[in-house]
Amino acid sequence: MSERFVPLLDARVRSVALPPSAQIRPALGHIADRLQRPLRDLRISVTDRCNFRCTYCMPKEVFNREHRFLPHSELLSFEEITRLAHVFVAHGVEKIRITGGEPLLRKDVTHLIGMLAELSTPDGGSVDLALTTNASLLRRHAAGLVRAGLKRVTVSLDALDDDVFRRMNDVGFPVADVLDGIDAAAAAGLPVKVNMVVQRGTNEQQILPMARFFKERAHVLRMIEYMDVGTTNGWRLDQVVPASEIVARIDSEMPLEPMEPNYPGEVARRWRYRDGRGEIGVVASVTQAFCRSCTRARLSIDGRLYLCLFASQGHDLRSLLRSGASDAQLSTAIGQIWGARADRYSELRGQAQADASAKVEMSYIGG
Ligand code: SAM
Ligand code: SF4
Ligand code: SF4
Repeated sequence: MSERFVPLLDARVRSVALPPSAQIRPALGHIADRLQRPLRDLRISVTDRCNFRCTYCMPKEVFNREHRFLPHSELLSFEEITRLAHVFVAHGVEKIRITGGEPLLRKDVTHLIGMLAELSTPDGGSVDLALTTNASLLRRHAAGLVRAGLKRVTVSLDALDDDVFRRMNDVGFPVADVLDGIDAAAAAGLPVKVNMVVQRGTNEQQILPMARFFKERAHVLRMIEYMDVGTTNGWRLDQVVPASEIVARIDSEMPLEPMEPNYPGEVARRWRYRDGRGEIGVVASVTQAFCRSCTRARLSIDGRLYLCLFASQGHDLRSLLRSGASDAQLSTAIGQIWGARADRYSELRGQAQADASAKVEMSYIGG
């Protein structure tokens, strides 16, 4: 096994000092980091396990029988997740996305959705609660997720061609079953978006078939540039299909025009079909970095707070929780961590400053 195939799920963790009670200021309320970016979104990874082995995310060479997934005792419980989420929401988080690994593999995840759906923002609104899934278990869970309070779902599907998709998920999972999961979610009343990671030489020929198919079905398709997340997927720049090329390919057959973002800091750039029938999004994390408007924090399965998808270290909130910290202490710690944030990996990608040596895996930190 080569050096780069060593997954980095180890102790690259900063411990977080518990603020002494005497020093606790009321730290609730909106906070900004050193680049004046507010904290608005929280991605919570609920499992590092997955029933797929997508070659760009959990390659079989690494995530095999010898791979040690975290034991249950290491995971945050639903109560711990909800308690932390409550503190994040008080700090300005408006959107929470449940992810993984495959989040629907976490036992009783619907129950967690129900607990998070109870949270309310400081102005009394509800939190925008979403989930990203490979859809393999979506038909089974769709109605329960809606009842629990899930607002939206994003389904990952990289190809319509069955052979291409089976090769990419590397467990032979059929396209038809993902489409069935999408139909079940839509029928249960969930707005569905579809994520497609585009890789040169692997599924770029699927851009147009995917665009045509989801335009017809009125689901927003988001095409994502293949990213150098983690260290196990052997990423190369020449495998990235630039978002500009993706848009040009679609525009040549189905003319497009740019749209305004839905909200400040939206990651996907939106394009609408000129015939008025639908839109797509492109996520140009490699070729057009959007770090300046990045308002996302990520909570790993074992309760470490990561400030960037490409971070090499997380901040250990689980130890704080389990050492009996009060909500005020947690709030102060999170405020201090976010306040010191200056991450902008994608802007620096390729430069000496971007330390790519020790990034965490997407399945651990959550996509
Ligand atoms: N298992 C779920 C799924 O696939 O939807 C949720 C977790 S997955 C890590 C979240 C998203 O990250 C998926 O849409 C996946 O395609 C995307 N992803 C994973 N590795 C990626 C990479 N190297 N570049 C771009 N997107 C990636
Ligand atoms: Fe699993 Fe999602 Fe990663 Fe694919 S992208 S291996 S479905 S976690
Ligand atoms: Fe945000 Fe890091 Fe991605 Fe930049 S590289 S957009 S800071 S997650």
